[in-house]
Amino acid sequence: MNNTYITNAAKMVEQLSRFTSFVQQADGQTGFISFRDSTGFLGREEDYKSRIAEEARKELKFNSWSESWIGTGKIAECARGAIHKSGNLVNKNQQIDFKNRLDPNNAKFRPEAERVLYDIYRNALCDEATAFANAVKVFGAKYDTIAYLFFIKDDSRFLPISPGHFDKGFAALEIDYTTSFKCGWENYLGFIEIIKEIRAVMEDLLPMQGTPRLIDAHSFVWVIQEKRFISWVPDPERSVQIERTAEKYMQGVISGSGGRRSVTLSTFVRSAEVVKETKRRANGICQLCNRPAPFIDKKGNPYLEVHHIIWLSRGGEDNTENTVALCPNCHVRMHVLDKPEDVEKLKLPGTRRG
Ligand SMILES: [Zn+2]
Ligand SMILES: [Zn+2]
Repeated sequence: MNNTYITNAAKMVEQLSRFTSFVQQADGQTGFISFRDSTGFLGREEDYKSRIAEEARKELKFNSWSESWIGTGKIAECARGAIHKSGNLVNKNQQIDFKNRLDPNNAKFRPEAERVLYDIYRNALCDEATAFANAVKVFGAKYDTIAYLFFIKDDSRFLPISPGHFDKGFAALEIDYTTSFKCGWENYLGFIEIIKEIRAVMEDLLPMQGTPRLIDAHSFVWVIQEKRFISWVPDPERSVQIERTAEKYMQGVISGSGGRRSVTLSTFVRSAEVVKETKRRANGICQLCNRPAPFIDKKGNPYLEVHHIIWLSRGGEDNTENTVALCPNCHVRMHVLDKPEDVEKLKLPGTRRG
């Protein structure tokens, strides 16, 4: 896959690691995280979205619609019931506006709104791209509303959106993509594509129970832009753990030990190259204590761990200028003691050349 939206693998794993730790702290556990366990933080706070989709579909009953309903107000009634179930997936003003536009007693009512809804749900008269464009014409560029209509049609393919919030979440992952004031089919597909990429990385790296759904990856982006997540200051021990996990995620990508299948996004392939090159350069010798690797791994290579001299969580880059290969002891020492003189030693060009 060449055309990827995730261009900074280090940022991605750092946020995933921080997210994992944030959830584990909220749950008072250290193991698996789950979106579907109603007793856990994620299940409690985020899983309502899939329930909304289910409830809203019951209101819509779109499989029972017939073309002859267009213009009768029957479709409008179903859709008003569905938007009523949207909770916080559609902002309040858009909910009210949508209900008004579909109220036959309201001056804003336009019969063609029912044709648009018929097009979205039944695809009989036009494709989804055209249905989306027509929805913009009839309802206005109401991104929350239109995305919601698609989401409740099929939540395995479509997602709700809250443009301002997702723009912030993407920025936190250094993903260069904006959705604010960009309500349109192409933009929407790009948005979904990004969430798909994130889901693939989550599936590969996170200690999760079950396969993450599209809506779970969506929830991850949502959580990381929330104030409580951004302002969260982990205690020093947890900070070390977050950094170590991020480094482990990076290395899991190539060894395959961290995940169920290997992430093929080109940005992770680049990171894998950094790990490979760092180990090659060290040539089996720890770059802090200068002793040989403590053992040879199953593949016959000296066992060393790749460390970022400036931590990823402190803005360090994932390139060979910022990495060294260390024995496990020295690696723990770097994180636990965090001594400036050790850092200085690793920064010496001679050290890194191996
Ligand atoms: Zn060492
Ligand atoms: Zn490290």
